[in-house]
Amino acid sequence: MKKEDCIFCKIANGEIPSKTLYEDGDFRVILDLGPATKGHALILPKEHAADLFELSEETASKVLVVARRVAARMAEKLHCDGMNLVQNNGKAAGQTVPHFHLHMIPRYQDDGQQINWVPGECTQEELETVRREIVG
Ligand code: AMP
Ligand code: ZN
Repeated sequence: MKKEDCIFCKIANGEIPSKTLYEDGDFRVILDLGPATKGHALILPKEHAADLFELSEETASKVLVVARRVAARMAEKLHCDGMNLVQNNGKAAGQTVPHFHLHMIPRYQDDGQQINWVPGECTQEELETVRREIVG
């Protein structure tokens, strides 16, 4: 189902033009308007899901296949040296558009971008406590 007021629904379904790299029955892959690097793309499912939590298992199972296909193409054509896949869910995680999207960010040696976090520290006991909290 599409969501009426969702811009990525409109883009994914071709109602708003975009720089499309790939399209099939389930997805459209477009160039990001504010690219972190040359070739920064977004994989948009045509079905609306706000985020990973709402995404159907069927769509989830297909999205990495598309990413792999487009990544191979970028490696061949753009000669990127690496690739970050980034996927934000919820405001706290930096999501600004509430329609699931997977960022594909080609990386180039010394491209000056930083897609990082600050590593924390913890003990084996603390890890075990968290593990139990999640699986328990
Ligand atoms: P996020 O912060 O993960 O929700 O990412 C949203 C991304 O969508 C940002 O990288 C924006 O630059 C990009 N974006 C927003 N509107 C458009 C648009 N109309 N076409 C292409 N990219 C867009
Ligand atoms: Zn949508």
